[in-house]
Amino acid sequence: MEGIKLAMTQTKEEHFSRDFLASKAIEDFQAFIGRVKKSVPFYQAKLSEIDPESIRTLDDISRLPFTHKADLREAYPFQMLGVDMSRVQEIHATSGTSGSAVVTAYTAHDLKLWGEAMGRVFRRAGVGPDDVVHNAYGYGLFTGGLGMHYAALEVGAAVVPMSGGYTQRQGKMLKDLGATVICSTPSYAQHIAEAMGEMGISRDDLHLKVGIFGAESWSLEMCRELETQLGITALDVYGLAEIIGPGVASECLIGHEGLHVAEDLFYFEVIDPDTGRPVPDGESGELVLSSLKREATPIMRYRTGDITRILPGPCSCGRTRRIDHIKGRVDDMFTLRGINLFPREIESELLRIEELAPVFQLVLDRNSALDILEVHIEPKDHDIVHEHLIHKVKTHLNRTLGINVAVSVQEPHSIPRSEGKAVRLVDRRNLGR
Ligand SMILES: [Zn+2]
Repeated sequence: MEGIKLAMTQTKEEHFSRDFLASKAIEDFQAFIGRVKKSVPFYQAKLSEIDPESIRTLDDISRLPFTHKADLREAYPFQMLGVDMSRVQEIHATSGTSGSAVVTAYTAHDLKLWGEAMGRVFRRAGVGPDDVVHNAYGYGLFTGGLGMHYAALEVGAAVVPMSGGYTQRQGKMLKDLGATVICSTPSYAQHIAEAMGEMGISRDDLHLKVGIFGAESWSLEMCRELETQLGITALDVYGLAEIIGPGVASECLIGHEGLHVAEDLFYFEVIDPDTGRPVPDGESGELVLSSLKREATPIMRYRTGDITRILPGPCSCGRTRRIDHIKGRVDDMFTLRGINLFPREIESELLRIEELAPVFQLVLDRNSALDILEVHIEPKDHDIVHEHLIHKVKTHLNRTLGINVAVSVQEPHSIPRSEGKAVRLVDRRNLGR
């Protein structure tokens, strides 16, 4: 029965044939080029030589120019705006921690588009009118909070707009208001679970059934950890403000493996980051996304910097194509004595060690010419002998990832907990030390 109920929540757009999606994409690119050449100065210059009618195949699309993050930063604040400001209804911006912020805007049509994409995320997770959604994503310029909020409105669920922070209160509200769904970054959910434990609230006191987590790349081990601690199925959601916010892709409750892309709304490609050419299905590369239907800040072939691959074969739920969980961002990757690593891979290994609390931080430093990685960990309880733990972590990481690291055991609760996106990697190599 549950399967039938879930199947009924699928929309026809999630079952379009590949041929239909391809012809639709070609039409969408033609219309987009015709439109932005008149309305967005950036694309006017970039596409001046391109006739929309010359786009006839997917291969033609794969030869169109990319849009880079630097282009969006240069356009700060409104140079990418494709409509008159009188039509804009909502404006968001990225944090701009590694450069100037990127501003993205929404017309009424764009908010509807976002709602539709987010509604699919919730339906894939089996969330509907009977649910109470505890939304612990930050509300504000960050798109996570309002994106999840619109999803709840779209499917008719009740939403508790907690936002981030007041972590002890999060646990109390989860319990008292009978939330069935929790939304946050995975690291913040972990922090909430820990705070609940300290308050004596167990998973049996809650009514949670599903968690929708995103805005960070997280490992399967973190997923299992959250599922055990909160008594839920933990699903991954992906998106970015430049495209729409969360809602580009998400996991379904039935398959629970890989994220379905709303590909009729957001055209996607996986490319070789060096050559810019598409890679075959199943092979890892950089995700490139287009948000052609967005009116206020439309965007074509955006280099997301996120590493993933197209999962071969259909999902058991029958929906359209899936991408793998994001392995990391191109700029999160670091090299240790010739081995390329993402923080998520180290998270994955650390969470397999029972004596460790599920928090960590990586500090990358340089000693003369050599890069050194120091792994900061916390023991699960006070009685664990530090020397034993150091030895165990060093040997485990050496055996599984082939790396030599320094290990520093921190006092319980001393590694910073995040209320939004966690800082997993602190890079001290370029600070002139
Ligand atoms: Zn599925």
